[in-house]
Amino acid sequence: MKAEKINPKDISRPSEQMVELNPADFMKLPYPYDKGEDEPAFKRLKEDQKKKYETSLDGVLAVGIPRPATKGEEDELVRKFLSGLEKLLTKENNWTFLQPLTLSLEYCAKCQTCNDACPIYISSGKKDIYRPTYRSEVLRMIANKYLKKSGKLLAKFTGNDIELNWTTVAKLAELAYRCTLCRRCAQTCPIGVDNGLITHELRKIFSQEMGIAPGEIHTLGSVQHLKKGSSTGLMPVALKDTLEFLEDDIKERTGLDIKFPLDKEGADILLIHNAGEYLSWPENPMAFAIIFEAAGLNWTLSTDLLGYDAVNYGLWYDDVQFARVAVRHAQIAKKLGVKKIVIGECGHAHKAISVIADRIINEEINIPRESSMTLLEDLVCSGKLNLDPKKNAFPVTLHDPCNMVRLMGVVEPQRKIIRKICPQFREMEPHGVRNYCCGGGSGFAIMSSMNFPNWRSSVSGRMKFKQILEAFQDVIDPSIKKMVCAPCSNCKGALREIFNYYNAWEKCGISYTGLVELIVNAMVDIKEPYIEWPIM
Ligand code: SF4
Ligand code: SF4
Repeated sequence: MKAEKINPKDISRPSEQMVELNPADFMKLPYPYDKGEDEPAFKRLKEDQKKKYETSLDGVLAVGIPRPATKGEEDELVRKFLSGLEKLLTKENNWTFLQPLTLSLEYCAKCQTCNDACPIYISSGKKDIYRPTYRSEVLRMIANKYLKKSGKLLAKFTGNDIELNWTTVAKLAELAYRCTLCRRCAQTCPIGVDNGLITHELRKIFSQEMGIAPGEIHTLGSVQHLKKGSSTGLMPVALKDTLEFLEDDIKERTGLDIKFPLDKEGADILLIHNAGEYLSWPENPMAFAIIFEAAGLNWTLSTDLLGYDAVNYGLWYDDVQFARVAVRHAQIAKKLGVKKIVIGECGHAHKAISVIADRIINEEINIPRESSMTLLEDLVCSGKLNLDPKKNAFPVTLHDPCNMVRLMGVVEPQRKIIRKICPQFREMEPHGVRNYCCGGGSGFAIMSSMNFPNWRSSVSGRMKFKQILEAFQDVIDPSIKKMVCAPCSNCKGALREIFNYYNAWEKCGISYTGLVELIVNAMVDIKEPYIEWPIM
């Protein structure tokens, strides 16, 4: 069903909610959710929240800019936004992505081919405001009207007749967080326009110029990361305690005496995990240690501030925060004198350290950086580990983290491993570089304010859930335990929430894990099963 048409300039109208989100309109899910009976009701915002914030985009709050108390405050928000947009379009102030941004703003042919590539647009029941080009059209119109010579005068004739008021600014701030930056739309666009990038740049205006960003990725994210060493709040002393605890756990589960090597100078590998693993999925860093020790690698972890948390949330919203963290990661590796950095199972950290950091890491601190996927592929496929695929005798499918797969091209290594150790492996459709986001990309997995988690599980993660259900349709009975392998900490977080939201374990027997856990589960020398299933 095609939803009602909404024009870009409608965003300026105060008060009216632009779209109502109703699960009955959302994309249908396959069996056993096809009747829609198990679809949780969409959580509405409370009246006091509506009073406090501008909620008229879609009745969801991710950012939540408090309503200005005076006309003067409204005008100041608009002024700052416009000044930020102006800076975004100048070479001196946008040293990262100016060229692709201006090309994307200038050359869209408005063919709308990209719409069908966007999981959020499709999952929502084709709500116009979620079209990949909707926010870009708004931004383009504002730039043309307010920043170009005679723009205001000619706005009516050039089709840029949009009003930039505080409502527009507040709704744009929310709209910047209704896109996972998965860039599936860019992959589909016949002329390479990148609407994901435009969203990213829009987030930069809010953060870098206006100090507005979701608390989970800024204050509790990159700010906390720089101050305490980890966005989880895990400080070096607590990390050491945690690792001692994990060593005991490894001994108990496998009988192996393994000590995590710490701050080993000159090691071949500095392994950096997303520190969320230590707290939420400790079996993942434990599995890495078991595999690396079994393969006889010369590796280390760092206990230096930031050296044990590979996340870099600045990647999603703020170049300055990004640069601070990226430089620190490189400096720590240089100081330790390791031969390379290897990134654990975290998709955005892969892209941050390996790709985007190249824009700021100079010769002095440059160091080779490698994905754990290629390293593990070498260990598994070269026969360095004694593996028995029969130990993974359950259906498995593989989720492709966008940053690692579509945006970096690390597609085959993890597949080669899974094909070798999981005899009942099946692909999702589509997969590889045409995958769909888990719904938690660009910070969504950790954003939990007000009713945003509800939106994330029912809209942004809906396509992924559909794909998973389809991959397991032949074994969908809950008595058959099945596993989604997601080699990314944020993706696991998003899947955990979706599976809880839809009771996927109870209803379908679907759980999730990382890649290294499946490898250890297949190791002949580990007698007890390493994979743990949820308890019914
Ligand atoms: S971004 Fe590309 S695919 Fe989408 S409307 Fe513009 S030209 Fe068409
Ligand atoms: S980047 Fe992804 S979520 Fe954002 S508009 Fe494009 S396809 Fe949709």
